[in-house]
Formats: sequence, C-alpha cells, structure tokens
Amino acid sequence: MLVPHTGINAVAGNLFRRPVAAFAAGVVAHALLDLVPHKDISAHKAEGAMVFLMLGLVGSSCGWRSPAFWCAMGGVLPDVEQVLPWTDPARGRHRYFPTHSRRFQSLPLPGARGFQASLMLQSAVSMAALAFAVAGCRKVSRGS
Ligand SMILES: [Zn+2]
Repeated sequence: MLVPHTGINAVAGNLFRRPVAAFAAGVVAHALLDLVPHKDISAHKAEGAMVFLMLGLVGSSCGWRSPAFWCAMGGVLPDVEQVLPWTDPARGRHRYFPTHSRRFQSLPLPGARGFQASLMLQSAVSMAALAFAVAGCRKVSRGS
C-alpha cells in the first residue's frame, strides 16, 4: 500500500512545521498504516511510478523541503526494503521494519474480521489526501 502511504502522509505532513519532525512522524505513520488490513498491489513497477509522480507533485507544489514532502518520504522509505534483494525472505533474509513481518502486517480489525481495504478504496483515499495535501501545503519559512 505504497500509494496510500504517500498520499496520507503528505496531507499529515501539513500538521508539522519542521521537515525532520514530519519525516519521523511519517515513519511512524507508515507502521500504523501497515497494520490496517489491506490488499497489496502486485504491479510493483506501476506502483513505483505512481509514487514517484505523487512525490514529484507534492515536492513541486509544497516545496522539496516542506513537511508534506518529508512526511511522505517517511512513509515511502520503509518500503524500500520490500524490494531489496538482501532483505528478501524468499532468499532466506529477513526484513527489519517491525510491520513488515507477517505477524504485524494487515492486523484484522476487531469486529470486522473479513475487512480488507480494497485497491479502489486505497486509491480513492490516496487521491483525496493528495489533493488536500497540495491544496493546503505549508511552505517552509526561511530563517525561522
Ligand atoms: Zn510497509
């Protein structure tokens, strides 16, 4: 669910003043979002292209040093280990980010065991979040 990590984190980034705080919160938000039961997209190249596009939009609209951009980066970077050969469980390696172990990924929601956020729902939420992020970006004030 890399697209939701990007969009939701970008809008959440507007809550912060400092890019560093936004980035740290973004990494935490990645873990929280991983816990939500969800389907994962199997088209990784298309997903990657979409994420680059979204990051480009946030960076060019809000600024490359903006909290929105860095919160989105904090949401994207933990998933880099999902594509690295030296953290590939199929090769006998293990992943380090806590929610990338099977135990924590997609925890069932209490009272809704069968629920999984569909790709359509994830896309709709992500695009709405992205629109709000870009519309409400907090520009980085220089010198303060
Ligand atoms: Zn993840």
